[in-house]
Amino acid sequence: MSAEKRVLVTGGAGFIGSHLCRRLLAEGAYVICLDNFYTGSRNNIAELMKHPRFELLYHDVVEPFTTEVDEIFNLACPASPVHYQADPVKTVKTSVLGVIHVLELARKLQAKVLHTSTSEVYGDPLLHPQPETYWGNVNPNGLRSCYDEGKRCAETLCFDYSRQYGLDLKVVRIFNTYGPNMRPDDGRVVSNFIIQALRGNELTVYGDGSQTRSFCYIDDLVEGIIGMMQTSEGFHGPVNLGNPDEFTILELAEQVIRLTGACTQIAYRPLPADDPRQRRPDISLAKTKLDWEPQVQLEIGLIKTIAYFRELAEQNKR
Ligand code: NAD
Ligand code: UDP
Repeated sequence: MSAEKRVLVTGGAGFIGSHLCRRLLAEGAYVICLDNFYTGSRNNIAELMKHPRFELLYHDVVEPFTTEVDEIFNLACPASPVHYQADPVKTVKTSVLGVIHVLELARKLQAKVLHTSTSEVYGDPLLHPQPETYWGNVNPNGLRSCYDEGKRCAETLCFDYSRQYGLDLKVVRIFNTYGPNMRPDDGRVVSNFIIQALRGNELTVYGDGSQTRSFCYIDDLVEGIIGMMQTSEGFHGPVNLGNPDEFTILELAEQVIRLTGACTQIAYRPLPADDPRQRRPDISLAKTKLDWEPQVQLEIGLIKTIAYFRELAEQNKR
């Protein structure tokens, strides 16, 4: 048997998953990407498909699966409100049944598991910034609940499997992340604003734009995920991964207009139900345990992301 590490990435054809797969290949791992292409894209993994250590497993995590691996990164789940609310029952099943199937596989193989949770477990937070010790303020039956409560239940399952069966478990809570490989129709704010600006359309700000988010560039996030997987056995997290620089949505819109040079304006639209007012990670734990903190400032990350969407638009014209 070869000595190379075999790694499974569920949701590997998605935005974060595709970057993670590329990074794992660069480290010398054999990478199995499991995806049902609900929000992922073949374009994201087109280059990786040519790699001899990359394999695609077309599968839905709601159904059980098996393969031979040493490590599992569980990312399968739509992350944009537009997509996770399109079929909310499926979203809950993807989070809950998906993580059960991942954890059962890890148990059978004695494999290490990293699960990607989310800042949404804090809901509309009453504590600011949010440390991992905060239990959150989540509506259990609103439009966002399929995602928030699905992810909360997935965390519960991770920690119960770890306590009950001694799994080598890692949980990260990811805050708003952006960068190349987001879908143009992803629906999240960064891709929406960039696409709108590049097309010369109005930028749709929901509410008055005073709500805040903290945006992490994808390369920084991937470093944090890899760092977490490498922490010593017995450290499970959860650990917040995100950029603590906080911006209002209006500030983001203004930056995108400036950096694209777009000749356009802002159009105000109704604020969706249960939209969190503010969000910023407390990353003290990540700094201490992973020696990690984001390096890429919003302006630099936006310039790279704008260049990606410009190139994509050019490709589509050809
Ligand atoms: P994404 O939608 O781009 O990627 C999700 C991937 O999972 C896609 O390739 C999709 O096809 C796949 N998938 C969805 N349902 C599936 C199913 N039932 N079976 C198999 N594959 C399935 O989202 P992303 O931004 O890359 O997010 C990846 C993970 O990180 C998600 O679990 C998300 O909850 C978490 N996360 C992301 C962010 C962020 O800002 N991007 C923030 C917090 C948490
Ligand atoms: N948002 C916006 N215009 C858009 C898309 C989103 O003003 O075209 C707002 C949205 O209401 C929220 C913030 O931007 O307050 C972040 O939204 P996103 O869907 O990116 O992430 P999440 O709400 O899950 O943090």
